[in-house]
Amino acid sequence: RFITFEGGEGVGKSTQAKMLADALAARGLPVLETREPGGTSGAEEIRALLLHSQGEWSARAEALLFAAARADHVEKVIAPALDAGKWVVCDRFIDSSRAYQGGGDTLFDDAIMAIHQIGSWGLLPDVTILLTANPAEMRHRLAARDGDGADRIGGRPLAYHESVAARFRTLAASESERFTVIDAAGSPEDVHQRILQSLAPLIGE
Ligand code: C5P
Repeated sequence: RFITFEGGEGVGKSTQAKMLADALAARGLPVLETREPGGTSGAEEIRALLLHSQGEWSARAEALLFAAARADHVEKVIAPALDAGKWVVCDRFIDSSRAYQGGGDTLFDDAIMAIHQIGSWGLLPDVTILLTANPAEMRHRLAARDGDGADRIGGRPLAYHESVAARFRTLAASESERFTVIDAAGSPEDVHQRILQSLAPLIGE
């Protein structure tokens, strides 16, 4: 089973991915927890290139770099774990590329999916948990935590993050079979319980 977490910065994806992986492991299930962009040494190098850039990559180059990191991660880590029967919990995946690099343009979304087909066999998660929250509030939360403007790639403005959030919602609505939308408000434990409830059929509870 392949489960991904998506959403904007500061919604608690990493915390929830870890809590879910721990909950699955506590049920005796074999679990691999991983994240994007990263998960292999090559992908971590690309992550560093992207996160330390000051926004100088063109949108297409950025999309290709994310896709290259994902291809390495899928081939070396995710696919072998799935083949071995593990549950894979991944913090961000293809839908982040579609929401961040996609720009809301259908043609470009088709292009991103075509690159994904070439790089990662078009692998899609069984379930994608979209954590939703107000981008302005998230920015506040992250600024309090990290002491900066929260955006780890080149200080993109709030309007950019609002359009990313809108694209995530559009993707979730158009692929509602795969997506589960979870409100990220409340304590981490509250959100975790909401997630467990939504996954109960998949976990067999
Ligand atoms: O929130 P997280 O640490 O997972 O994100 C790392 C950074 O990479 C964030 O600034 C996020 O906006 C950015 N990102 C992106 N495009 C992606 C994936 C992540 O711009 N496809």
